[in-house]
Amino acid sequence: MAKSRKTSRAPFTLAGHTVQPGERLQIDVPAANLYTHTPLGLPVEVIHGRRDGPVLLVCAAIHGDELNGVEIIRRLRSFRALNRLHGTLLLVPVVNLFGFLHKSRYLPDRRDLNRCFPGLERGSLASRFAHIFFDEVVRHSTHIIDLHTAAVHRDNLPQVRAALDEPGVEEMAMGFSIPVILNSGLIENSLRAEAGAIGIPVITYEAGEALRLDEKSIVTGVRGIVSVMRNLGMLPSRRISMIRSEPYLARSSKWFRSPMDGVFRPLVKLGARVEEGDTLGVVAAPFSDVESLLTAGQDGIVICVNNMPLVNEGDALFHIARFAEATAVVEGEIAEHVSNVEGDRLYEIETVQPEPPLT
Ligand SMILES: [Zn+2]
Repeated sequence: MAKSRKTSRAPFTLAGHTVQPGERLQIDVPAANLYTHTPLGLPVEVIHGRRDGPVLLVCAAIHGDELNGVEIIRRLRSFRALNRLHGTLLLVPVVNLFGFLHKSRYLPDRRDLNRCFPGLERGSLASRFAHIFFDEVVRHSTHIIDLHTAAVHRDNLPQVRAALDEPGVEEMAMGFSIPVILNSGLIENSLRAEAGAIGIPVITYEAGEALRLDEKSIVTGVRGIVSVMRNLGMLPSRRISMIRSEPYLARSSKWFRSPMDGVFRPLVKLGARVEEGDTLGVVAAPFSDVESLLTAGQDGIVICVNNMPLVNEGDALFHIARFAEATAVVEGEIAEHVSNVEGDRLYEIETVQPEPPLT
């Protein structure tokens, strides 16, 4: 006799829409109007599994110019294993719709959405928008993965940032299967802080640069989310091939800032190990022989590099993370992770497809 497809699980309700177990639905949550009077709906895809489990929210582009997460969610949503999902997956590929339209980090009122949570119904534009996302979507989740990149003109090594001492957070961070985890304090009114305050564990995945797609960051992100879902019991473990990585915790990190104005040339790459006294790069005055060698003040791993050659005194040039483990070990694990990602099937599919002929 064929197995019954019936389930006793309750339907999932979001913004007045109901999703039955075993179904997926794209919902446009009414969010705002453009000043053309065009309604702006916040697209949320709800994938409601047949079996009980956590409600995981994966969201991207809270900063509207951070695009790797948008592509990560696009690939994640077609993952075949989601047919056997335990629990519910909420996907929001673009939170900051206004910023995304303008290829900008901010909202039109120049506020940073990630400093406006949980928001106010009668607050500023950013605060109202934050309120709708927080109330209609965030509050319905039990776990959150928030996808980011570095700010414009900077490149982040793929890393997880999390407040590891908050309940449930370390387990999620370790489950991401990535070499670098940065224990990072909570910024007031950020999604991480405010969702955490109502008992929802949040981790942030940071990889690549704003306004660019980076294949290694994308593949690492998709694999990391699937790995977390497997750890949470949302996906069966046996049939998913995974890139395993030994995670290393950075308990502190420091920005290296430019000592002068001029033209900047980095001499170390993302993921490189540096020791106190090493030369990190050079800043030169464009019309003279004056050069300033940038000397590392501490040991660590380079987790962010500025890639804008024109710099002012005080500009952030490198972000260096400190690990309890020997930095050589961490550097080796990062290099191994990168070569595993390059050998990953997901990566090949995206890189070997021939381009259509030009007509
Ligand atoms: Zn961001």
